[in-house]
Amino acid sequence: QTQTNLFFTTAKDVAHLLKPRKKFSHKGIYGHALLLCGGFGKIGAAVLAARGCLRAGVGLLTVQAPSAGYTVLQTAVPEAMTLADKHRKHLSELPQEMDKFNVIGVGPGLGTERVTKSTIGQLLATSSHPLVIDADAINIISSSEKLKAQLKRNQLIFTPHPKEFERLIGKSNNDYDRLKDMLEFCQEYDCYVVLKGNNTALGTPDGEIYFNTTGNPGMATGGTGDVLTGIITGFVAQNYTLKEACLLGVYLHGLAADLALNTVGEVSMTASDVVDHLPQAILQLQ
Ligand code: AMP
Ligand code: MG
Repeated sequence: QTQTNLFFTTAKDVAHLLKPRKKFSHKGIYGHALLLCGGFGKIGAAVLAARGCLRAGVGLLTVQAPSAGYTVLQTAVPEAMTLADKHRKHLSELPQEMDKFNVIGVGPGLGTERVTKSTIGQLLATSSHPLVIDADAINIISSSEKLKAQLKRNQLIFTPHPKEFERLIGKSNNDYDRLKDMLEFCQEYDCYVVLKGNNTALGTPDGEIYFNTTGNPGMATGGTGDVLTGIITGFVAQNYTLKEACLLGVYLHGLAADLALNTVGEVSMTASDVVDHLPQAILQLQ
């Protein structure tokens, strides 16, 4: 029997978490994130995640992308360093020097090609980085018991939408059971789960659930989740705890979308609008 603690995340719960920048700091202080995102036809997912990561304040960002995405990324996100995968269309290898990264965000736009599956396997088997696992990385792990068995390690955040979560843990009887099943998963794998949707629920390995209070249906459009993956990865890079990174990231992502309502409204809102309003959201919270 597990004790459940339920909370709602409001501005005052997260505002004090934001760390001010130190006057004599340099980019090395704010972490070096690696994003493994994007596949042929979905390079935009990597662009959106990269932009979210940068706007969350990461010191340095490297994106490994299929070679077809190289020019796109260098053009759309000049602040990010880009590594061109040897494969033109899909992720098929890990960067050679992994030690310089202090967090890896993986999944958006990857696709589920065999080469990509084996690269995810290699990542889980060889890296000890904190991982933010989203989208097709979740789908790939869900399809393999062997990969699931490799998840028993520290420092994991999953950011599934409901369908991805169902692939990962199976169907639940109802919404209430879904949350109980989420906590069971968090405990079994000692991980955090950001179950996305209206009132996104963060499950922790300590048996807590935090319901987010920002966000709106304008976010129900392609790419908004990719932005969130970048944001959370960016906060982990800056040495926020996994829990802080999830709470802050989810709250600010929703707040950015709420601020975007003023100019673009729910109907026209795009994922780019969400990332464009992240600076304002952070300013409002400070
Ligand atoms: P994804 O499905 O991965 O693109 O993620 C969608 C993002 O938009 C998540 O952060 C969701 O929490 C958010 N979202 C989607 N629909 C809604 C909604 N109706 N209300 C609030 N947030 C939403
Ligand atoms: Mg998604």
